[in-house]
Amino acid sequence: MIVPIRMLGDPVLREHAKPVTEFDGKLGRMADDMLETMYAAPGVGLAGPQVGISLRLFVLDDGQIGPTFIANPILLDPSGTVVEEEGCLSIPGPYHPTPRSERIRCRGQDVKGKDVEMEGEGLLARIFQHETDHLDGVLYIDRLDEGGRREVLADLRRFELGLQEPRARRRPE
Ligand code: ZN
Repeated sequence: MIVPIRMLGDPVLREHAKPVTEFDGKLGRMADDMLETMYAAPGVGLAGPQVGISLRLFVLDDGQIGPTFIANPILLDPSGTVVEEEGCLSIPGPYHPTPRSERIRCRGQDVKGKDVEMEGEGLLARIFQHETDHLDGVLYIDRLDEGGRREVLADLRRFELGLQEPRARRRPE
């Protein structure tokens, strides 16, 4: 089932999400709904708070690893820094260059509660960081410098006033 995506301004996006403790059928259905919603958007990642669920979980698919669910993620051993255009399904409008670690490991649990650990590089590393940020109430625009943030806000105003169509999403997250 496709569920509505919460947009910038919704307080749930700024909450510190709670750990996942129940690995039951309800969690499995939640994961399925989130994956369906992410693919339909279309996007490459979607975190719990973005669908109004303030729990530490996200789904992703970078186009290589396939549909993936991670609960209670912990990011380890970041290395390198890259600046690439980044966007968010909760923030309409164009993308903006955003600095992230180039490589990072993500440890967490799968939908059954089994421990998993993945190594990410490039886009996958970026998704791990973007989605884990969501669980701490952090949005990618918080990681831009002042000029970048001003640009985002100007874009948002134009978008809200209907003066500008959003650019095609090249790398939706
Ligand atoms: Zn996002």
